[in-house]
Amino acid sequence: MKRISVVIPAHNEQNNIHPLVNELQKVLASTDYFYEYIFVDDGSKDNTLNEIKIQAEIHSCVRYVELSRNFGKDHALQAGIEVAAGDAVITMDADMQHPPEMIKELIRYWEMDYDVVYTYRAEANAHVSSYQRFSSKMFYKGINMLSDIELENGIADFRLLDRKVVDELKQMDEHEIFFRGMVKWVGFKQKAIPYIPSERLTGDASYSFFNLVKLAVNSMMSFSVRPLYAVTGIGLFFSLFSVLYIPYVFISYFFFGYTTASGWASIIATVAFFGGLQLFVLGVIGMYLGKLFMQAKQRPNYIIRSTNFVKTGNDLIKL
Ligand code: UDP
Ligand code: MG
Repeated sequence: MKRISVVIPAHNEQNNIHPLVNELQKVLASTDYFYEYIFVDDGSKDNTLNEIKIQAEIHSCVRYVELSRNFGKDHALQAGIEVAAGDAVITMDADMQHPPEMIKELIRYWEMDYDVVYTYRAEANAHVSSYQRFSSKMFYKGINMLSDIELENGIADFRLLDRKVVDELKQMDEHEIFFRGMVKWVGFKQKAIPYIPSERLTGDASYSFFNLVKLAVNSMMSFSVRPLYAVTGIGLFFSLFSVLYIPYVFISYFFFGYTTASGWASIIATVAFFGGLQLFVLGVIGMYLGKLFMQAKQRPNYIIRSTNFVKTGNDLIKL
């Protein structure tokens, strides 16, 4: 009998753990698979870990990995996927925004021989503000323009991965991870299905505006070097432009008697513009250098503080 692992990163989700496990039980107990729920406590400050432990007492299929601090959702996901033993691994949020009953649909496509079944937010839904919709649209436009993969607008971390895809993902030893992109990148037979997110059950979304901006920039840069090409292009364009501008200055001086000293406003404007442009380009290059630096340090992406299972080969033994 095949096994399904459900990996759930949780950061300050104390009131959502119990309801989520209940819902998951309703869905998975009716399938023909073994299953395990792997909660990854991503440095929660509230009672999340205790709630998970209580569930682990009740249900033997509840497992957990406690990280030593908050490492961010993608790293928490990575920690969960790393220890998951299932023939299929499902990832989902802990806040019930990813409807558990859709797991049946994910499994159905998996049984139809799809290797990746991922979801994206259906366009019209009441639980997303127009500002959120706009910013997410801009993000996906940006990342699609800057990288070689095509991500659907509103693509979610709610997906099913076949074991062979999981093994490929585990091979990718990257410091900056952006799962939504990596899953697309590995290829295999993928199926996208829309979902309508529910309202977050309790608590607040963990991401602030600045976190989101940082996440967006990091995701784009971790995924492609196209921004480097883009700024090189801009630099090239302006150097060509200035190559044309210099003869113009000389010609106007020698033949028409203009002196360049008369337009200081335009000089200041040009200097300011190019100064800014150079700093920007340097900044982009510096950011990539920083990423290389972080990658070169080879630090782990997460640190486990405690867990209730050990792994031997491909089998998990509950402690
Ligand atoms: N999450 C996490 N670490 C973090 C932030 C969030 O593990 O640093 C988890 C969170 O508990 C939830 C999921 O990631 O299960 C999605 O987070 P959230 O609901 O805050 O984001 P959104 O719904 O806006 O994508
Ligand atoms: Mg959420």
